[in-house]
Amino acid sequence: MKHIVKGCEPPSFQSWKKKNPRADWDHFSGTETYKELRQYLINEQVMLCCYCEIALKENSDAHIEHFKPKSKYPAERFNYNNLFASCKYNDSCGTKRLSEYFTGLISPLDEKCQSRFTYTGNGMIIPFDENDEYAQRTIKLLALNCKRLRLQRESIIKILDNEEITSDYLEQSLINCVDWYNGFFTVIRYVADKRGTA
Ligand SMILES: [Zn+2]
Repeated sequence: MKHIVKGCEPPSFQSWKKKNPRADWDHFSGTETYKELRQYLINEQVMLCCYCEIALKENSDAHIEHFKPKSKYPAERFNYNNLFASCKYNDSCGTKRLSEYFTGLISPLDEKCQSRFTYTGNGMIIPFDENDEYAQRTIKLLALNCKRLRLQRESIIKILDNEEITSDYLEQSLINCVDWYNGFFTVIRYVADKRGTA
């Protein structure tokens, strides 16, 4: 899970909220402002899904995800800090967990979120500390070890965890992860750390 640093919300979203103070999410989700906000979030997240880090290359590759589900926390439905761009795959992430949530679910806004997870050579994501129960529950709830994600990570690790790969190339891979490896920034980071480079 890559750490996300949030900036200010886009002015168009702010003014939409002012004009529609009692609106519910369904009222918002079909609008042009929704699409603008979605693109804004994608850019803020350097084109990566907020949970699995798969590349979000097109606006329509993502949905706007409520970290705290809007059904359980209606007051948070338009809170910018609760909104992320998540992939649309139905075997992981926001689409898979629906409105499930627990206190302690690890947020991409948590400064330490990256360091709470690591990987295995065959592409599994695991808690960095095996006793970190919340990291384990987060992986499970978001289905971050579904077969599709594990196989993509495994193939990246196989390519990069190789003595012929230079630290410069790993550095470039981190910068270009969206185009070269369909995302997965922290998987490349894991290989670079393991090799003691980049
Ligand atoms: Zn995802």
